[in-house]
Amino acid sequence: TSDRGRAPLEGLDPQQRAAASAPRGPVCVLAGAGTGKTRTITRRIAHLVRSGQVSAGQVLAVTFTSRAAGELRSRLRQLGVEGAQARTFHAAALRQLRYFWPRIVGDRQWDLVEGNKLRMVALAATRLRLSTEVELLRDLAGEIEWAKASLVGPEEYPSVAARSRRDLPLGAEDIAKLYRTYEAVKNEQQLLDFDDLLLHTTAALEEHQEVAEEFRDRYRCFVVDEYQDITPAQQRLLDAWLGSRDDLTVVGDANQTIYSFGGASPRPLLDFTRRFPEATVVRLERDYRSTPQVVALANRVISSARGRPAGSRLELVGQRKAGPQPRFAEYEDEQSEAAAVAGRIKELLEAGVPASEIAVLFRVNAQSEAYEQALSDAAIPYLVRGGERFFARTEVRQAVAALRKAASAQGGQDAELVTSVRRVLTRVGLTDRPPAGGAAKERWDALLALVELAEELATAKDGATLTDFLAELDQRAAAAHPPTVDGITLASLHAAKGLEWDAVFLVGLAEGTLPIQHADGNPDAIEEERRLFYVGVTRAREHLSLSWALSRGPGRRANRRRSRFLHGLLPQEFVAGNRGGSGRRGAAPKARCRLCDRPLVGTMEVKLGRCGSCPAEVDEGLLVRLKDWRARRARELNVPAFVVFTDATLLAI
Ligand code: ATP
Ligand code: MG
Repeated sequence: TSDRGRAPLEGLDPQQRAAASAPRGPVCVLAGAGTGKTRTITRRIAHLVRSGQVSAGQVLAVTFTSRAAGELRSRLRQLGVEGAQARTFHAAALRQLRYFWPRIVGDRQWDLVEGNKLRMVALAATRLRLSTEVELLRDLAGEIEWAKASLVGPEEYPSVAARSRRDLPLGAEDIAKLYRTYEAVKNEQQLLDFDDLLLHTTAALEEHQEVAEEFRDRYRCFVVDEYQDITPAQQRLLDAWLGSRDDLTVVGDANQTIYSFGGASPRPLLDFTRRFPEATVVRLERDYRSTPQVVALANRVISSARGRPAGSRLELVGQRKAGPQPRFAEYEDEQSEAAAVAGRIKELLEAGVPASEIAVLFRVNAQSEAYEQALSDAAIPYLVRGGERFFARTEVRQAVAALRKAASAQGGQDAELVTSVRRVLTRVGLTDRPPAGGAAKERWDALLALVELAEELATAKDGATLTDFLAELDQRAAAAHPPTVDGITLASLHAAKGLEWDAVFLVGLAEGTLPIQHADGNPDAIEEERRLFYVGVTRAREHLSLSWALSRGPGRRANRRRSRFLHGLLPQEFVAGNRGGSGRRGAAPKARCRLCDRPLVGTMEVKLGRCGSCPAEVDEGLLVRLKDWRARRARELNVPAFVVFTDATLLAI
């Protein structure tokens, strides 16, 4: 709101102004969290447009998460810049591909793999007579994703795998075969996965001169936010966009690199001046986002990071007036933690903090459930969960399928958008009144969010049809940009990057969750977890709460330890061991599920060696190999997703 109606360079400090007003050409802003990088690039875009150096339609700003892209769009809107594109790499690529596709491949239809990816991997595995155990398929899918993001094709895969000495769930040759077969299966079914969007768009630009010319004529000014998280595939697309030009502004913070498990690297950011020696380089160190209390905590978190690259060793200097001290709290179990957080949120709401200014941030999406329950119990509205996973939800997929069917039945003349959406969704379970709570309420919220989105679209676009709505849904699914309902935000730390709230609750700060279990023993993976923690801490403007629980649930053994990242941050009463003191420290969790690694409760679970939620039938040999491989690979790639989902969720991923 502070940007509304401002002249583009007004209210910038001298360094920010230097970056925002630099002539067209390469610009690099290297700076810590909350120093105004995103503000600087949106002001730069506004300045370039306002001063007539470029037209808004020639600007393409890209970032990595849908929420961050949404943030860019809303800041540009506030600055009165209309028509500049701000998207995720994937959404930008999808749009371009749709546009160029007919010219490149003719009228061959294609669709996005969306929720069917694992089924494609399973089909490929079946063809090759490989195991189709879901956990294995997930890991193989992850391996293929990593390879594609890293621009490693099936042919080179075995040698690259050998060179990087990764431990693989199958032989490298088998994975390469699976990779190749997966690509073939996908082709036969005329499907594209998200990585294909980048690769095909890049190929279109590299191989079709007229496509590249048309594109480069249209877009002339490129801006990348959060550049520290770029993958080789994204960098190549960016290079294809640029051609031989250099009108590129990048901003980033190597201390916030949190996607290296997916192939991302801060190298292009840190090497920017090597590539563009004439670049304008700006460093910012004033933190405008957070109170000095939060800034001090953030500085302490990141100063203990190891192996920080040169250029990332800046201390943030707080600019805001003093605020409350960050709160630390330890709870007996996760339910008590969630209930206490909900209680505290209620107090903040009553004190006048808007719901949209409050966030609960966690490491893995599975943690969200306890908070959804506690917030429902306390009648506090929250945003439909799982940003990234909204489109994978069963009821959403059923709804989209039903809408597609309805659209095709109506032929060319579909109208009344909103009423037909509501009518169709009634068939898949949308009732007039919301159910009492729990999972049913969550499903209802998701369906209602679709109706609200349809209403929004109908307001924004006269005569919007069901087909328009489906196109909007496709676009959002590709960009992982779910519709939202009003309320406090529940988000993973990954999804929270680049955003800010008045009050932030960092929950579940226990060993095994943050840092995640499988990072243990691998210094690089631990450092990435620490950076995630840093990202979390730096989201808070004023109120910051850090909490953890000593057991999973009421009556369960208190076998969890608070996160190692809290050492050196805790106030005296914790250090003295008054609560959750030294007696508990070092007490390693004992019996854990062989499959998902949850602590086992009850003698039966201990005897079986697996918890109640994991399947009974296991191929023991495969299990041992898998566990072994997963642990090692997690250490190498810092894959965070070693959470066991139910089969239904898995199929939906
Ligand atoms: P992150 O690394 O988390 O993405 P960032 O460097 O992109 O952070 P911004 O989000 O641009 O930081 O800015 C953080 C906050 O500080 C925003 O609320 C922004 O409006 C405010 N801010 C930035 N620069 C200034 C300034 N010169 N004067 C006042 N407020 C500012
Ligand atoms: Mg930012």
